[in-house]
Amino acid sequence: MTRLKSHLEGRWVGGTGPAETLLNPATEEPLASVAAGGLDRASALAFARAKGGPALRAMTLAERGALVKAMADTLSAHRNELLDLAVTSGGNTRGDAKFDVDGAIFTLSAYADLGRSLGDTKVLLDGEGVQLGRTPRFHGQHVSVPRHGVAVHINAFNFPAWGLAEKAACALLAGMPVVSKPATSSALVAHRIMELLVDAKSLPEGALQLLVGGVGDLLDHLGPQDVVAFTGSSETGIKIRSLAQVIRHSVRVNVEADSLNAALLGPDVNPGDETYELFVKDVVRDMTQKAGQKCTAIRRVLVPAAVADRLRDDLVDRLSDIVVGNPAHEGVRMGPVATAAQRDDVREGISALARDGRLVLGSAEVDAVGAPPGKGFYVSPALVELEEGAEAPAVHGREVFGPVATIVPYSGRADDAATIAARGQGGLVSSVYSEDPAFTTEVVLGLAPYHGRVFLGSAKIAEQSPGPGTVLPQLVHGGPGRAGGGEELGGVRGLAFYRQRVALEGSRPMIEKLTGTKA
Ligand code: NAP
Repeated sequence: MTRLKSHLEGRWVGGTGPAETLLNPATEEPLASVAAGGLDRASALAFARAKGGPALRAMTLAERGALVKAMADTLSAHRNELLDLAVTSGGNTRGDAKFDVDGAIFTLSAYADLGRSLGDTKVLLDGEGVQLGRTPRFHGQHVSVPRHGVAVHINAFNFPAWGLAEKAACALLAGMPVVSKPATSSALVAHRIMELLVDAKSLPEGALQLLVGGVGDLLDHLGPQDVVAFTGSSETGIKIRSLAQVIRHSVRVNVEADSLNAALLGPDVNPGDETYELFVKDVVRDMTQKAGQKCTAIRRVLVPAAVADRLRDDLVDRLSDIVVGNPAHEGVRMGPVATAAQRDDVREGISALARDGRLVLGSAEVDAVGAPPGKGFYVSPALVELEEGAEAPAVHGREVFGPVATIVPYSGRADDAATIAARGQGGLVSSVYSEDPAFTTEVVLGLAPYHGRVFLGSAKIAEQSPGPGTVLPQLVHGGPGRAGGGEELGGVRGLAFYRQRVALEGSRPMIEKLTGTKA
């Protein structure tokens, strides 16, 4: 069985000590093992600071954009192999695998384009210059420059390709070297990507390192110029934020965590309308894509009480048609969840949600197509419905990371809908499906303080939009409160985390000279 190695300080190194076995979640067949003892994580960080950082900072943004483009090209050239690996190692259907791998390539390409458009400069201007004195001579200008530390990236198990790529694209373009740690259970895809990038030799030494296996003492060696971008559970996010080293050195930490995303149907939309059909389609896709293991998936379906029964019947109809099984088999529409622990957690979570209301679809017994008898981490799609006005602490308080959502009937008033959605205490994305501008405006303004993104679902964009669950590199990803308080991507905004903003105050000609803005 393959033993996965880390790529640290310019070479592949194997860990020692107890090994964890990585399984195909569809069959439980062992695929690889990982041991993470004995790795010199402190030296890996020092290597990034000493080698990768200076090499990246010597380049302009356009040159770093070309590096990111080369990464996208490498992944594109090996796309089919990566898709196959995502199917066997992650329980992904081919569509799920494309969502991860193509999402990685698309995001790298978008940041490569951004780098090209930012041009032959190393300093980024932040806003317009300002006159500070009586005459224009005394001038102020905010700029940003890359931090001199290392960007530590810790990723969740659900997007091993996209997670590595979207974080690395921003950090490398911004000018910071990266140590990337994939989640252990799905590390195979990230490991293969690293092998491809190492073979391609397109990145400078120390620009990107990969640590597979447990995080170990990595974060104990952080310094004041370093940053940590973390995606995963709230509990782990809290642990990272509370580390003495992080507090002592004011290490910047970005947390992307749980989210109880809501999708809200406006009272103007009737069953049979195109926008109603889009709503049903988006809910079903979000519940079943990646077996519901998507941080942006719709968890709470808010619907005017008058149409709740009809919506329940429509969702039950569509979800009952979903073929669950081994994604290597033709016709399977939803694969297993990632691990046995994940399956047990999801099953337990569904029971907790059901105690708030009523389980209308879902069963512990799954007849998984193409799976060896008794093997695989399968969960069938589950739907819970609440009574209007139900307190439902689990529905509004617990993210169940699997193919499950809850129908939450509401009065049809915008303020009620926004108040219910806000009970999630901060989310990545919520969506409003309505053609009524007054309703949409009121509800969006109510949702906005609690979310990083609000999706306006409408038949008018149905053909072009991938739905609320897809994170686009042009728009910010993250959210307040429960969602971790972080922000990633959003075009040039995604670079800010890796750069120090500094205010320059002095004579205008000098400032214009050093920022290269003199006409
Ligand atoms: P997790 O258990 O918190 O693990 C996430 C990552 O943190 C893994 O790489 C894990 O490594 C590492 N880790 C574990 N303990 C750590 C520690 N004490 N210090 C530093 N790192 C540590 O989360 P998960 O189960 O993989 O992911 C599921 C969660 O992620 C869900 O709640 C989901 O909502 C959230 N998520 C959020 C987003 C977003 O963008 N907001 C995206 C995807 C997922 P090991 O694997 O080696 O343990």
